[in-house]
Amino acid sequence: MTDWNAMSDADFRKEVRGFFEAEYPEELRNLPHRPKFAEIEHWHRKLHAKGWVAPAWPAEYGGMGLNAAKLLIFYEEQQRWGVNRGRDMGVQMVGPLVIKFGTQEQKDYWLPRILSCEDIWCQGYSEPGAGSDLANLRTRAETDGDDFVINGQKIWTTMAHDATHIFMLVRTDQATPKKQQGISFLLAPMDQPGVEVRTITTLSGETEFCEVFFDDARTPRANLVGELNKGWTMAKALLSFERISSGRRTWLKMHWASLRALPVDGALLKTLSSATVLPRPLSMSRIMPHSIRVSPISSSVAKRWARMSRCSRSG
Ligand SMILES: Cc1cc2nc3c(=O)[nH]c(=O)nc-3n(C[C@H](O)[C@H](O)[C@H](O)COP(=O)(O)OP(=O)(O)OC[C@H]3O[C@@H](n4cnc5c(N)ncnc54)[C@H](O)[C@@H]3O)c2cc1C
Repeated sequence: MTDWNAMSDADFRKEVRGFFEAEYPEELRNLPHRPKFAEIEHWHRKLHAKGWVAPAWPAEYGGMGLNAAKLLIFYEEQQRWGVNRGRDMGVQMVGPLVIKFGTQEQKDYWLPRILSCEDIWCQGYSEPGAGSDLANLRTRAETDGDDFVINGQKIWTTMAHDATHIFMLVRTDQATPKKQQGISFLLAPMDQPGVEVRTITTLSGETEFCEVFFDDARTPRANLVGELNKGWTMAKALLSFERISSGRRTWLKMHWASLRALPVDGALLKTLSSATVLPRPLSMSRIMPHSIRVSPISSSVAKRWARMSRCSRSG
C-alpha cells in the first residue's frame, strides 16, 4: 500500500495531476450541475479501482490516509482539472461519522458500500421550520420491536431523488428541557413505501433539492449511530466534516479569475446579459463586488487548512 504522506508535496501533486489529466473523462470536466450517479458511474469505478474514492479516510478503512497538506493538494488538483466531486455525501459526511462513532458492525457493513457507491447517501437535516434553528426539528422516530418508525418531513435534501439511503436527525424524545436533547442520528433506506421524494425546481431550473416525506417509514434499530438521544453531538461532528470539503478555494479563485479576465464588452457577456435567466444586464461593475468577497473566503479557507495541518486533523 502506498504511503502517500511519505512523498514530497511536489511528487504527490504530479501523481494526482497526472492521473486526473490522463483518466478523467473530458465530457465530465467542469460540469455545471450536480450529476446523478449514472452519469459519473464509470469515473467512480475508475477511482474506486485505484483506491482514491476517500482521500481523507484512514487506509485501514479503504481510504488514502492523506494528512491535511496532502489532502489540500488532492482537492486543489481535483478542482483545477474540473473533476466532479461525485456523489460524495457518503465519503465526506456519514462515512467519517461512522468511522468515529459507529460500532464495528456498522463500520464493517456501511464503509465498503460507501466506497463502492452501492449505497448513495443524502442528508436529512433541514426541515420546514428547522433550518438555521436546526434543533427545532420535528421529524420523530418511535421504537417498534427491532425498528424505528419515522414520521415527518425533510427539505432541501440535495439529490434525494438519486439516493438509496438518508442519514437523518430525528426526535426520539419529545419531553426534554432543551430542544438539542432528545435528537438521534439514524441511517435509513429510501426505497420503501413510507418514503416519498418530491423534487424542488429552483430559479435556475435545476432539481437538485428535494422534499422527503416519511409516513411510517422504518429502519432497524441497529442503524442508530451513537447513543439514543445524543444525536446533536453526531450532528455537530458531521457538520465539521462537511465544512472541510465545502471551502472550494481553488475553484472559487479559478472561476473568479476567469470572470475577471472576460472583456467587459465581450460577446460572452452580451450573450449572458441577453439570457432570460438574468434579471439585469451583466457588467464588470456588478461582478467586482462579489470578486472582492471571494478573497477573504479564500484566505480564510487557506488559514483553516494551515491550522488543520498543524493539528494533523484531516477530517
Ligand atoms: C446548496 C445547499 C445545499 C443544501 N443541502 C442540504 C441537504 O442536503 N440537507 C439538508 O438537510 N439541508 C440542506 N441545505 C439546507 C441548509 O442547511 C439550510 O438552508 C440552512 O440550514 C438554512 O436554513 P433555511 O434555508 O431554512 O433558512 P432560515 O433558517 O429560514 O434562515 C433564513 C435567513 O434568516 C437568517 N436567520 C435565521 N434565524 C435568524 C435569527 N434568529 N436571527 C437573525 N437571522 C436569522 C439566516 O441567517 C438566513 O439568512 C442546503 C442548503 C444549500 C444552500
